[in-house]
Amino acid sequence: MKKRPFVAGNWKMNMTAPLVRAWFEEWIRLSPGTEEAETIVCPPYTALGEAARRAAGTAVRLGGQNLHWEDSGAFTGEVSGPMLVDAGCRFVIIGHSERRQYFGETEATVQKRIAAALRAGLRPIVCVGETLAQREADRTLGVIQAQLEGGLAGFTPETIGGLIFAYEPVWAIGTGRTATPEQAQVVHRAIRDRLAQKIGNPAAGCVIILYGGSVKPANACDLFRKPDIDGFLVGGASLEAAAFGEIVKESIRSYKEVN
Ligand code: PEP
Repeated sequence: MKKRPFVAGNWKMNMTAPLVRAWFEEWIRLSPGTEEAETIVCPPYTALGEAARRAAGTAVRLGGQNLHWEDSGAFTGEVSGPMLVDAGCRFVIIGHSERRQYFGETEATVQKRIAAALRAGLRPIVCVGETLAQREADRTLGVIQAQLEGGLAGFTPETIGGLIFAYEPVWAIGTGRTATPEQAQVVHRAIRDRLAQKIGNPAAGCVIILYGGSVKPANACDLFRKPDIDGFLVGGASLEAAAFGEIVKESIRSYKEVN
């Protein structure tokens, strides 16, 4: 049995209040048929207020794109878990490759952010993924394993079982070059196997593992058919409510076919 599709949109550093308003107006028009999926959007901090107002009365839930590991204090420019909760978030993306690439994110900071998110009652979406050079050097699974080991150090099996993971090959993010369903499935399986060693088989089977990297309506159905792909983390295509809605609907189509 496949799990119900889980589709999260990462708006990155895009969207102001008028655009958020327009996005939700379009979403409300197009959303019939998306009810069987869990849908999340992760707006930039400044758009969370508008997104929370517009999402009220829809099934869309909100996530942050990052959080600081302290709950409050003298950390100019940072946003904490309790602040995200206050703004209406239930989820938070942690360890996105853009944070790793441009903002010094490491396994140690990923681990601290996961702890902070859990303290605040947020559900972390923990991102892992290899660069093109690492894939070409046949290091993909080793890199993913190291990211999991470092990021998850010290957490109990119960805690790990409640996390959401996103496999996002860096070479596929924003490039239009998607991993094939087969390439993605190999890594998703490896992540689940690694989790099974930590938390046992039945619990690992229940963990949501998303794929991210140039997901579009045209490739969502084939990717979702793979047994260990439980949904998507979508960047560029989530900025258009219509494309995001189509990805959700394609996932549901595939879900119904498989179950
Ligand atoms: C992302 O940034 O998480 C992502 C998957 O981006 P895109 O869909 O644009 O490749």
